[in-house]
Amino acid sequence: MLQMLSELVHVESPSNDKAAVDRAVALVASWSESLRGRVKIHRQQEFGDLLEVRFTPRSAHRGTPLMLLGHLDTVWEMGTLRHMPWRLKAGRIHGPGVLDMKAGVIMALTAVQALLELHALSRPVILLLNSDEEVGSTCSRALTERVARTCEAVYVLEPGQGDAGAYKTARKGVGNYRLDVTGVAAHSGVDFSNGHSAILELAYQIERLRNFTDLERGITVNPGVIAGGTRSNVIAAHAWAEIDVRIARAGDAARIDRSFHKLTCRDRACTLKVSGGLNRPPMERKKAIIELFKKAQSLAAILGFSLEEASTGGGSDGNFTAALGIPTLDGMGAVGAGAHASHEFIVVEHLAPRTALLATMML
Ligand SMILES: [Zn+2]
Repeated sequence: MLQMLSELVHVESPSNDKAAVDRAVALVASWSESLRGRVKIHRQQEFGDLLEVRFTPRSAHRGTPLMLLGHLDTVWEMGTLRHMPWRLKAGRIHGPGVLDMKAGVIMALTAVQALLELHALSRPVILLLNSDEEVGSTCSRALTERVARTCEAVYVLEPGQGDAGAYKTARKGVGNYRLDVTGVAAHSGVDFSNGHSAILELAYQIERLRNFTDLERGITVNPGVIAGGTRSNVIAAHAWAEIDVRIARAGDAARIDRSFHKLTCRDRACTLKVSGGLNRPPMERKKAIIELFKKAQSLAAILGFSLEEASTGGGSDGNFTAALGIPTLDGMGAVGAGAHASHEFIVVEHLAPRTALLATMML
């Protein structure tokens, strides 16, 4: 597993570099073919191609497939390996994308391989890896949903949560909004009273956004980026903000959306444009998901380790499949820390037992 992981990490694959991600897709496709998987490459224009591999049992059993879901793109630019090299030290492996989520991809292939070698693959397994997860999965979403609809359950190979690598049974939904305010420019000294500041108007709107947050309901609203104006002696004609929204319950999506679209300008000479919306629906902790987790927990106990469940505010492609009502278990990949950060690493000792658990969950 470590050798394969090293090979995959050394094929750098930033989301914004199609050729690079396609090389990672080709590598995993070749490994899949050597496991007698039926490879289907879904060509993409903007981002890397999407890889769909179907592993079918030799026996006559057919059954509903299971889906193993992940992505091959990373947040790391080409050349990152130079200052953040593959490094195995003190039981940890460092490197770009090692945790999020190249180790998860290797775990999936190894789990399938184990079942094949034991002649224990009892139903079809579909491995679906996309190339635009780190930039919102806009191109891959339709395929993810289409394939998921044919599956009994979805196992997402994103990293586990925390030191013990808890499986994730709930994820918040994620939305992105943008406010654009247009005011009236004027000289701040000569013509102050004829100006209408887009910046002051935006500041007022941002104060109103504060009230959209409802921590008890799991709703957070974060104006994470603001910009506007041209010079300090010009009354700003334009200002904008980008806002990240998280919701725990699907039912709150419409409410938040209405709140955004009800915003009106205090300064009537200004205009406000609201754009954006919900990108990923929440993955809610429904009964079928709890049952799936309980199964994993008892199988882990048989394998000799304890498994916890967790919820997170971060989104993944599991949000899409869970929202379709397909039982989805997330965080089944590697254990480590520092996803999207320069200290990203996985803990080696968890690789084998968690891969065994993944294989057992496919029986
Ligand atoms: Zn990821």
